[in-house]
Amino acid sequence: MAKVCVFCGCTPLTKEHVLPRWLKVALDPTVRQHRYIRLSVDAVRHHEAPPLNEQVKSVCSNCNSGWMNQLEENVRHFLPDLIRGNPCTLDAEAQRALAAWSLKTMLMFQHTHPADARGVIPASDFASFHVTREPTRSMLGRLGFMNYPPDDSVPLVDTLCQGYSADGVRSTGWITTLKIGCMVVQTIRAPDVAEGKRLTPFEPLPSLRPIWPTDAPIKWPLPAAIPYELMSALAHPDDLDLTIMPT
Ligand SMILES: [Zn+2]
Repeated sequence: MAKVCVFCGCTPLTKEHVLPRWLKVALDPTVRQHRYIRLSVDAVRHHEAPPLNEQVKSVCSNCNSGWMNQLEENVRHFLPDLIRGNPCTLDAEAQRALAAWSLKTMLMFQHTHPADARGVIPASDFASFHVTREPTRSMLGRLGFMNYPPDDSVPLVDTLCQGYSADGVRSTGWITTLKIGCMVVQTIRAPDVAEGKRLTPFEPLPSLRPIWPTDAPIKWPLPAAIPYELMSALAHPDDLDLTIMPT
């Protein structure tokens, strides 16, 4: 079977950088070329590579150079500051752009894994992202701050994508966690939320702020940092209590 674009179903496929080359400006030129990819908390898959060289061949040229490139442009003026922990403020528009870019990036990271090891994010979520180009009402997003010490104790990039179960029985949703430098962005996909309802937004915390749905402006860096040791617990919370409210 011919491979088709994971978003729109077209061919031919082109190569897409999972992390954009322009991020080089955010990274110290002497930075270790250390990367770390994990598919899930249970199935750890280590992967070391120059962080900006990885490509996947999963999208068509229209998607790649069109709307996906626009999502890159929308975060370009503030993403390096988030990664380096430099002072900046994220208004609602920047939060929306960050939520969309992070989701796109994590969808592409899924395709760095072998086909038989993906599976957490269903094809229908790729298709709906192609339509909306932002997270849906059935998703929540948040931004966390993590110290990034100048030694080898913490990887530059760390990603996790984990299924979770809302009813304790089977996997009904997924959580992606993307850390680059000081920035940690999570997208939580709950079971589909009915028309006229929405997920109750996350409460702001000193080290974690809601970005989807967008919230009050965020002053960066946040006042408290999440220790890197808590990365797995953050990516796979035991007590994720998602509730539904009227819109
Ligand atoms: Zn496409």
